Formats: sequence, C-alpha cells, structure tokens
Amino acid sequence: LASRAFKEQDTVVKVGDLEIGGKQIHVMAGPCAVESREQLLESAEMVKAAGATLLRGGAFKPRTSPYSFQGLEEKGLQYLAEAREKTGLKIVTEVMDAGTLPLVAEYADILQIGTRNMQNFFLLREVAKVDKPVLLKRGASATIEEWLMAAEYIMAGGNYNVILCERGIRTYETFTRNTLDLSAVPVVKHLSHLPVIVDPSHAIGKWRFVPPMAVAAVAAGADGLLIEVHPNPSEALCDGPQSLTPENFQSLMKDVRAVAEAI
Ligand code: PEP
Ligand code: MN
Repeated sequence: LASRAFKEQDTVVKVGDLEIGGKQIHVMAGPCAVESREQLLESAEMVKAAGATLLRGGAFKPRTSPYSFQGLEEKGLQYLAEAREKTGLKIVTEVMDAGTLPLVAEYADILQIGTRNMQNFFLLREVAKVDKPVLLKRGASATIEEWLMAAEYIMAGGNYNVILCERGIRTYETFTRNTLDLSAVPVVKHLSHLPVIVDPSHAIGKWRFVPPMAVAAVAAGADGLLIEVHPNPSEALCDGPQSLTPENFQSLMKDVRAVAEAI
C-alpha cells in the first residue's frame, strides 16, 4: 500500500486546509516539550510569525532517563489546544502508547510516532484505527525498508494518511547526535508515494548545524520540516542544545523559502 508500484501518484495528506505532500513546504516547529502555558503560547506566536503552519510539542515525552522531565501529559495537551485556538496552527504531538492514544487523539491534528516506537506494531495497529494523520518517524536503527513496512502496518489497518519523517540514524559518528540520512529523501520518494519530511534537529543535535541541513533537506525534495524552537533554549527542559532561538528560526525560514522558490 505504501509503495509507488501500488500507487503512482503522490499522496497528499490533508490536515484541515493544509496539504502535506502538495506544492507547498510545511514547517512543523515548536519546543521539544510543552513546559508551561507561557512557554508554549510564546513559542506558538513566534513560529507562526516566522511562517510555520504547524506547532509541535510533546506532552508525553520518551526520555532516555526515567529521572528526566517526562512531560505535562493532559495539561500539555490542553495548552496545545489553546495555542491552536489562538494562532490557527495545527498541532503535532507524540503518542507513546495505546493506553493514552484516545486522549492524545482528542487533541492532536497529527499523531506523532517517535523513533523508539517505530516498530511497536501493536501501537501502529492502534493508530491505524484512528481518523487522524500519523507522522511516522524513522527508527534510529531502521533500514528504509523496515520504515516503509512500519508505514504499511498503519495503512493495512485502514489509515492511509501517513507522513514519513527522517530524523537521523545511529552511526559510528558521535559529534552529531545521529546522522541525517538525506539520501533517504529521494530514495523513499522513489519507492513510495507518501510525503516525506525531515527533522534535522534530532538528527544533528546541535542548533548551529540545523539551518544548513534544513535547507539541504528542502533541496533534496522533502515535503516539509520538523524544527525544534524554544523561546529560551538554554533553559529548555528537553533538547535545549538543538533548539533554535526565535531569531535563528526566522533566519532559517527565510533561507528555506528562498530554496523552495528556487527548485
Ligand atoms: C521529538 O520529536 O521530540 C522526539 C522525541 O523525536 P524522536 O522520536 O525522533 O527522537
Ligand atoms: Mn526533542
């Protein structure tokens, strides 16, 4: 179902009036985690002013350490809904398990499946039953074929609105957090009709290198970007080192628009 051989025409995933995989590049931006009402509303106004069309922010966070901030849970979802109300931005937020899926689906416009859950086949089958688009992040150690098979699980369960997200894979390189596999963009667009977006923030892990790779992703044919932005990155509870300041995000958006117009 996910393959280009099955369906030749590009899939356009509709999120309200937005078309992901259509002519326009869509940028999903915002903090790693929803930390407070003020932090989220400020982020939302700022990413909207810079030209993003979707707001991202985790309310349930998959943290490596159990002692790290785990997210505001339902309160975080409520702040996301309030930000949507105020700005018109659509909401992308992660769902970590089947138990909290009904709650997350009540608030989200797009359900994010994180890299750690890409092969959680039970969860994939559950999101397949929900009438919401799914942003499926590539597993950090997943091959392109495994990633497409994960998309296949969601589609086989009846949900055809899958957006693929390349977010870096684990290699021997340690200077960057992961290695952004930009070659996956043209390869997946050849193998599949699904839209592909790129998350340079989690791939690289250092804010300084995010803008050039965002531009490169668009040049490589990505349908959109996922970018972490924080009003005050040095005080972020999660992923501060890779988060852009409002000023740097504005500058990234300007460069992205220029490349999008040029190709
Ligand atoms: C995130 O988007 O904040 C996140 C946890 O991403 P990933 O699953 O790609 O690590
Ligand atoms: Mn993050």
